[in-house]
Amino acid sequence: MKTVTSRPFRARGGIGKFLLVVLAIAAVGAAWLVLDEDAGTQLKKEAELAAIGAIGKAATSRLPGGEDGAATHGSAVDLIRRPIEVIEIADNVHYATGVGNTMMITTDEGNVLFDTGLVLQVEPQLRALKEVSDAPVRYIVLSHSHADHIGGVRFWQEEGTEIVAHEDFVEEQRYLMELEPYQYSRNRTLFPWMPAWEDRPDIAMMRYGGVEPTITVGDWETHRFTLGGVEFHVIGTPGAEGADNAVLWLPEQKILFSGDFFGPQFPQFPNVFTMRGEKIRKPMEYVKSLDLLLTLDPEIVVPSHLDPTVGAVQIRADITKIRDAVQYVHDATVAGMNAGKSVYDLMQEIKLPPELDLVQNHGRVDWAVRSIWDYYATWFHFDSTTELYPVPVREVYADIAGVAGSEALLSLAQNFLHADEPVKALHILEVVLAGEPGNVAALRLRREALETLLLAAENGLRNDYEIYWLQYRINDTDNRLAAAAPQG
Ligand SMILES: [Zn+2]
Repeated sequence: MKTVTSRPFRARGGIGKFLLVVLAIAAVGAAWLVLDEDAGTQLKKEAELAAIGAIGKAATSRLPGGEDGAATHGSAVDLIRRPIEVIEIADNVHYATGVGNTMMITTDEGNVLFDTGLVLQVEPQLRALKEVSDAPVRYIVLSHSHADHIGGVRFWQEEGTEIVAHEDFVEEQRYLMELEPYQYSRNRTLFPWMPAWEDRPDIAMMRYGGVEPTITVGDWETHRFTLGGVEFHVIGTPGAEGADNAVLWLPEQKILFSGDFFGPQFPQFPNVFTMRGEKIRKPMEYVKSLDLLLTLDPEIVVPSHLDPTVGAVQIRADITKIRDAVQYVHDATVAGMNAGKSVYDLMQEIKLPPELDLVQNHGRVDWAVRSIWDYYATWFHFDSTTELYPVPVREVYADIAGVAGSEALLSLAQNFLHADEPVKALHILEVVLAGEPGNVAALRLRREALETLLLAAENGLRNDYEIYWLQYRINDTDNRLAAAAPQG
């Protein structure tokens, strides 16, 4: 799940360790000159693995709730605290747990990996799986290009290892790399334990990207290969977390390695849109991919986060429900667009019927409605001429506040809060704060409105991203209140 960063560090106290690591690598570089090439490469790999292991340990201990013991919310943090261990699914199938799991299928002619976890966890995952088998790694199959799935590739890859991925993998990796500072800042807003961009450990072996598939598979196409008598199918399944999704299917054992195709949990309502700010995921392609997976009739689903689901009947029922739920939300949105309804009306109106009810802690129905609208219609909603020009309504907020007076506006915001309309209260408070960013009464009301929304979120859908965002805004409001307090 991409709710977790590949660099969950705090800034303080980390830099000394990173310098040591850089020095260690420099020393290995010097030794490399006097060794033959193979031995040098092996030594360098070993040193990098040890270094990355040390960084990973240090990072985990600095997480909220780690050594500091602070309480946190959210599956991202829970995942990174999960101990790394190997779990056996079948004689020939094991996985190492972590933020992102690393799956290994062993054969008489070498091993096949599916996904390689987070770079920070590659050292313990690799060592644990090598204890099961250290036969050559013949294939690495990647579910998609997110950092929590490709982090270990450069450490696992050997001479002649085939890297199998979707044909859009390279393009997805390119845009994620080009937008890295933007993505980083948005991730850090939601996951504040990350260090600032300028304080992040910028070490070559940890950097995102650089994975080059040697075999690719297109949308709804299958690449088949056999190794040690075991048949493997890699299937392109677009529409899930990224356009470059692929799954791995073992037909004899009816095991489906699903990556993030279903999201971090199975079953759940999918993230058609991620507020971290990536491209919209195409809903009808997703439905088609779900239909394809139904024809396989898996007996075990092994996701790249959390644990497998076993049982063909339940799996079939769950995949069908996800498919029908996405189709339902899609069709209702399209019908509403054709009926001339606004996107906001539809966000309020469209709900899953009871028989399609799914948890929405990752993806949300109302955000999916908006994403489907934007995917089909883009950003001009025919609501107002001003939509066409780069002059947002907030540019006149301060003027409105000047005319209306902050007292009248604050009392209006207060009324909205009493009427349990916290979002309307926030709109009014944005007008006041545009003119007076340090208005203490407005900041206090803003905090109250955000707390109301947070309580509703925690007692409602428990959507992780909504909760992370509200926590960030409450924190930001507290900082502004502290800055606005009279000195003394
Ligand atoms: Zn993931």
